[in-house]
Amino acid sequence: MNNGGCQPEPPLILIVDDEKMMRILLRRALEKEGYRVVEATNGQEGINAYQRIKPDLVLLDAMMPIVDGFTCCAQLQSLNNDNSEKNLSYSKGSGQQDSPWEIRERPTPVLIVTGLEDAESVDRAFEVGATDYITKPIHWAVLRQRVRRLIEQAQLYKQLEAANQELRRIACLDGLTQVANRRGFDETLDREWRRMGREQGSLSLILCDVDFFKGFNDTYGHLAGDICLQQVAAAIQVAAKRAGDLVARYGGEEFAVILPNSPEAGAIHVAQEIRANVAAMKIDHPKSEVSQYVTLSLGIACIIPLPNYEPRMLIDTADKALYQAKATGRDRFILSKLG
Ligand code: GH3
Ligand code: MG
Ligand code: MG
Repeated sequence: MNNGGCQPEPPLILIVDDEKMMRILLRRALEKEGYRVVEATNGQEGINAYQRIKPDLVLLDAMMPIVDGFTCCAQLQSLNNDNSEKNLSYSKGSGQQDSPWEIRERPTPVLIVTGLEDAESVDRAFEVGATDYITKPIHWAVLRQRVRRLIEQAQLYKQLEAANQELRRIACLDGLTQVANRRGFDETLDREWRRMGREQGSLSLILCDVDFFKGFNDTYGHLAGDICLQQVAAAIQVAAKRAGDLVARYGGEEFAVILPNSPEAGAIHVAQEIRANVAAMKIDHPKSEVSQYVTLSLGIACIIPLPNYEPRMLIDTADKALYQAKATGRDRFILSKLG
């Protein structure tokens, strides 16, 4: 923050060692390399500090009072597992498929620093999940290199995770209109369906279809048609104001709006605003049989999800309403009751 947000903060290392002199020496060596350092004097303190500061690396002494290094390391791993399980169940819960580029959260590396050199101790360190192992008395050049390598890996992983998140965002976006694509729509509808089911809230869906759009393309060409779709998408987006609302391109010239916690009256309000926003743009449409400008037909459905219902019912009902809006003259919205 105080560097203007341009430079990332230096990596944070948690030193867990009961010997004061060792902590001082480690701190001095690491700070000289530019790292930030936090100290803890036993395993329990180390676990507490770990949860509080979320370090990039842990240097862990094996022999300590209260909670020793092996136990501490095992507990850190189970904390990590708890977290990644939470993430996993969230991503399953939100209806996402396992993407080929899915990256699981990586645990913070733990470097055990110890005087115990016997094979059993070394094996135990790796069994409890240590990333690496170095012995006391410390060979400082070795420590420096290992720490540097582990933290470089951790930073790379963070960058990879950020890139992954961005990829997932783009994968759910429609390239032409920059609203959600069908995949984004499916995921959000699934998630909101389950959320509204739990909370017994109203979930509304509006399907919007451009009237006589084929004629628009025939008159002005496909490129102008694309620009029109971009404008329509933006006009719909403006009407979907709440953080939980989602606008998606459902098909070629058809858009969908998901409105969680929105009863019929709220959905009608949004539909009216969508129509008004599109009308206000006054996009000429000489081939339309219902207006001199581009218009939409809209179908609205609203439901409080019940266990024996499924999202498809909401879509089918909105689709039926849209069909009615088309059949009864276009340039209007129709609300359809479920069933
Ligand atoms: P209606 O009022 O009954 O909806 O008539 P319509 O002409 O809009 O419906 P129809 O389904 O016959 O035609 C839809 C047109 O939308 C045909 C297709 O070429 C056009 N379209 C679909 N996707 C795109 C796109 O990405 N860009 C452009 N420019 N046109 C598209
Ligand atoms: Mg159409
Ligand atoms: Mg259509």
